[in-house]
Amino acid sequence: MLEGMLFEELAGFYDKLEGTSSRLAMIDILTEMFSRARKGEVKDIIYMTLGTPAPPFKGIDLGMAEKLAEEAIATATGETKEGVDRSFKKTGDLGRSAEQLMGAGRLRRMGSGKFEVSDVMATMLKIAGTSGQGSKEAKIKMLANLLAASKPLEARYIVRFALGELRLGAGDATILEALSNAATGDRKFKAKLEEAYNICSDLGLVGETLMREGKRGIEEFKVALFEPIRPALAERLPTAEEILARMGGKCAVESKYDGLRAQVHIDRAGKHVEIFSRRLERVTDMFPELTRAALREVHADSAILDGEAIAYDEATNQFHPFQETMQRKRKHGIEEKSEELPLRLFAFDLLYLNGESYLNKGYTERRDELERVVKGDGTIRFSDRTIVDKPAALEKYFDEAVEDGLEGIVAKDLDAPYVAGARKFSWIKMKRSYKGELSDTVDLVVVGYYRGKGIRTEFGFGGILAAVYDDKRDVFETVTRIGTGFTEEMMRSFRSVFEKIRVAKKPARVDALVEPDFWTEPRYVVTVKADEITKSPMHTAGRHREGEGEVGYALRFPRIVGGGIREDKSPEDATTAKEIEEMFRQQRKTKISEAAP
Ligand code: ATP
Repeated sequence: MLEGMLFEELAGFYDKLEGTSSRLAMIDILTEMFSRARKGEVKDIIYMTLGTPAPPFKGIDLGMAEKLAEEAIATATGETKEGVDRSFKKTGDLGRSAEQLMGAGRLRRMGSGKFEVSDVMATMLKIAGTSGQGSKEAKIKMLANLLAASKPLEARYIVRFALGELRLGAGDATILEALSNAATGDRKFKAKLEEAYNICSDLGLVGETLMREGKRGIEEFKVALFEPIRPALAERLPTAEEILARMGGKCAVESKYDGLRAQVHIDRAGKHVEIFSRRLERVTDMFPELTRAALREVHADSAILDGEAIAYDEATNQFHPFQETMQRKRKHGIEEKSEELPLRLFAFDLLYLNGESYLNKGYTERRDELERVVKGDGTIRFSDRTIVDKPAALEKYFDEAVEDGLEGIVAKDLDAPYVAGARKFSWIKMKRSYKGELSDTVDLVVVGYYRGKGIRTEFGFGGILAAVYDDKRDVFETVTRIGTGFTEEMMRSFRSVFEKIRVAKKPARVDALVEPDFWTEPRYVVTVKADEITKSPMHTAGRHREGEGEVGYALRFPRIVGGGIREDKSPEDATTAKEIEEMFRQQRKTKISEAAP
């Protein structure tokens, strides 16, 4: 008996989403889509719309290989593998190829079309969970069966989803707004939904709770073990005076370690530990020694710690650079690496203890409790810190941190709660790079790229159109075109990476006045250094923050630092339009004070 939403209907919504170039229209479509969903299936619909079978922190990767999908399409349509491959070369999109071949396939199967969203999800989860001997054949068969029963439009999205390439471009904030609309009739409840999302990082769970338990369920949402909390982030200020003024005259200052953010969930009775990255990916397998240490060194039934994991050389007492810590991102030889480059976790916060959320307790209380439950002399240490009430003392602590090879400091408001998922002035960072010409590097999202000219023709790559994130509007606003400073290797790898995420027209969530040679889906982040921030009519960064008709901000002489794509950041983690605006203001202040006698 059919009860839920037909996949055909969902595919229809996806087709509409793909066709729109405005974010507002996108919200309308999503609102209607969620309004049609039954309570029990909204979760699956949300995951599906995000293009994953489960929230990212579950580490369930679908990403079927293209070759396997091609075989499944061949089986389902009666086309030869070569024929599918030829079509793929033409369309550059296996989803489109499947759609076309389903419509024109020799078997001329139009599909019965009567299966629900939950049927598709169940098959996808089965495919994701199949491994070992004979798994390739099994996956091909499952996908082929599903395709054989589907209509052309359904086939388009089934294939893209199986490949992990759905690319509907709906961001978290857009989905939350549509959920609020669908459940309450307007967008006002979005803020509350965001709060719930910040403490579980699971949009599907938030949507389901809203549909099943209404507003109350969301308002009473609780921190839970193994559901990652979205990390608190730091604002930036350039001087000790400004930091202390902001903090009300007194604050804690901690060393800023340049490693990998790690949120450690510990269930001691169940002997279960999970570690999540800053992007809330499950990275437990990267840190076997930390998993062991968590069970040994944390004296509580259950706890969630927040900290920075960094490779550390016991012999010389020195930290290894970020790139070396990043080597843990590999898939093989982790145990060997953990001996060669042992890690330490510098714990700096306690978010949960023995069944109780600590998010709303003040920093001092959280830190004191952290020091009570963790031994602090093994693999898990505490971030170094002191309390200051004078700029000179803060300055001195900063200088010593830099001398020790650290990145800088993070100042913390002694009374502030832990603000999940937000960049607030309760944490303020000051980095050694602020002493240079531009106050800091920025993290930008690639939204398009340019064809190479001159000697670059050979690489097919001539630069990047880069954007900041406007977290209020949930759109990406362009801030600069980066055309120089690429190594040959970078040009080659950028081209091949960006080619894969090329899209035919400007994505709905990109706000731009300039037109690159090729648009890309906003997916990758690069770290950029520039000489100066200026105002520019060409770019849209921050334009809407000032009011209608304003010009945007732009970066002058931008170049990419750090070698390439920042795997540890998602597009929504990029520097925001608000931060650029603040950096612009700070830069003016610095210039004025430098010019003063
Ligand atoms: P950056 O690129 O400057 O590290 P970010 O965008 O990764 O910035 P921020 O919010 O700007 O993150 O800075 C906070 C980051 O600094 C945290 O995500 C964490 O990984 C790291 N960090 C290192 N030491 C500390 C500390 N003692 N307290 C808080 N965060 C720390």
